[in-house]
Amino acid sequence: MNCPHCHRLLYSRLHAKCGHCGSVLPPECLLPEDEVAKVRQEQEQIERRRIADKEKQEEADREAERRKQDGGYFGGGF
Ligand SMILES: [Zn+2]
Repeated sequence: MNCPHCHRLLYSRLHAKCGHCGSVLPPECLLPEDEVAKVRQEQEQIERRRIADKEKQEEADREAERRKQDGGYFGGGF
């Protein structure tokens, strides 16, 4: 889908305006509102999952760090 004003490729059909020339796009260039809502919701879910994963990873990192300090590589009594 190209912009009807500047004829450049539209990188998203979620935005009401062309990212190149800023012209307001006609409705036929855009996704219907319910589709937009659906995509937004999916993106939100992906984002939330990513944040949750990151927190989990950070928690695991902290745990590993703690174990390293507690158990210690030098605690074996050699
Ligand atoms: Zn344009």
